[in-house]
Amino acid sequence: MAKKEKTAITPTREEDYPEWYQQIVRAADLAEPSPVRGCMVIKPWGYATWENIREVLDRMFKETGHVNAYFPLLIPLSFLEKEAEHVDGFAKECAVVTHHRLIAGPDGRLIPDGELDEPLVVRPTSETIIGASYAKWVQSYRDLPILINQWANVVRWEMRPRLFLRTTEFLWQEGHTAHETRAEAWDETLQMLEVYKTFAEEYMAIPVITGEKSAGERFPGAVNTFCIEAMMQDRKALQAGTSHFLGQNFAKASKIMYLGRDGKQEHAWTTSWGVSTRLIGGMIMTHGDDNGMIMPPRLAPSHCAILPIIRNEDDRATALEYCNQLKAQLQQQTYHGAPVRVELDDRDINAGEKGWQWVKKGIPVTVEVGPREVSEGSVFVARRDKSRKERFSQTRDQFCGEIAGLLDQIQSDLLTRAREFRERHTRSIEDLADFRSFFTPESAEKPGIHGGFAISAWCGQSECESRINSELGVSIRCIPMDSTDSDAPCVFCGTAGSKPVVFAKAY
Ligand SMILES: [Zn+2]
Repeated sequence: MAKKEKTAITPTREEDYPEWYQQIVRAADLAEPSPVRGCMVIKPWGYATWENIREVLDRMFKETGHVNAYFPLLIPLSFLEKEAEHVDGFAKECAVVTHHRLIAGPDGRLIPDGELDEPLVVRPTSETIIGASYAKWVQSYRDLPILINQWANVVRWEMRPRLFLRTTEFLWQEGHTAHETRAEAWDETLQMLEVYKTFAEEYMAIPVITGEKSAGERFPGAVNTFCIEAMMQDRKALQAGTSHFLGQNFAKASKIMYLGRDGKQEHAWTTSWGVSTRLIGGMIMTHGDDNGMIMPPRLAPSHCAILPIIRNEDDRATALEYCNQLKAQLQQQTYHGAPVRVELDDRDINAGEKGWQWVKKGIPVTVEVGPREVSEGSVFVARRDKSRKERFSQTRDQFCGEIAGLLDQIQSDLLTRAREFRERHTRSIEDLADFRSFFTPESAEKPGIHGGFAISAWCGQSECESRINSELGVSIRCIPMDSTDSDAPCVFCGTAGSKPVVFAKAY
């Protein structure tokens, strides 16, 4: 039996995927649990990743005509009551503020005091509070469209939290737009879905399927919910972003009305769309390996770490001078319009340990500089997405000249690898027995990694959807945008003329 290769993360993905995920978040120094259960402390390496996500998306939103604004964290309880489905969807996970001060009790402990006349809800999402502003701002069709995005935190009380994937408080952006016509709002909904798809594939290197949610999976109060869905390495689906066509539901609830071109009062048409810090969880689960995180270069907090290897104190000054020159030379290079981001790690710690820290953090490229490199004018390069055995030597000038190309290569290799993985684990299934076995683990005791995406025909009835969900824990991830009507029978009930949809277990 071959000796198992030692990995930086234990357990491995194969051994225990959920635990591997927890370990990697910690080992890559991305985040940690907070004293408040369900909340997380996002550490600098994780937060810098979020800042890069934010910067790119913010630019994409502005290029599509949106502006940023900020609305209150606290929402009057009565606002949530205005849209019946909306309140049903969020009521069970709301944090509620009922008092506005603390007083010292007899034993010196603090007691909430000053009960509010109307409780306030910490926003789980902002349709209702933003709708109240839009109702004031919109008088006539000339005031439309309103195209606003907000970067904020939201709170949805989470009973089974997991860092980045499900946290009680998370960071996100929420776009909220109001339009004169149905067609405009519809186009906006699909435009933002396309923005998310482009971002996922070109920046996160995560291939996604775009599609519409079934009625059962829709955002509470929406007419249509569209999503991008990605396959993680345990072959489960992750909903990575959503765009909702809200019709006139929220405009009616918030009284967003305008005087139309024909002189009649009309309700506006609205949309909302969002992505969150969950995306970082998606990047970990798509690219990470048994040695840690692998950052896609376009979002990596830093692109390249320079690691001086000092064996003899007499060499220290020369080695550091060489490394500083290398750093300056790299920073003069640009990668997609901005300087290459470089770390020179001259901390006085064990060289092996230092190297592994960067591997675990997932920095795309590391270069080692020892006495030999200094004398030769070279660097010893490691790509994070390749085996340690594939490290190579290059002249310093050549490495600096080619760094942008190297980063692009890593970026596109990550996307290709993820796409091939998804294709390998996606199957068209027509037979119910096949469908069941695809989603049933070989061992019930230790389920392990199995299944994937099944493309199967579905009749559109919620009975079939909920039956399969309760039986196998499998849900309809989406009805793909390119899905066309077929005469295939529903895989569950046999109804003819059913549509192919994507089924999977999901986060
Ligand atoms: Zn059916």
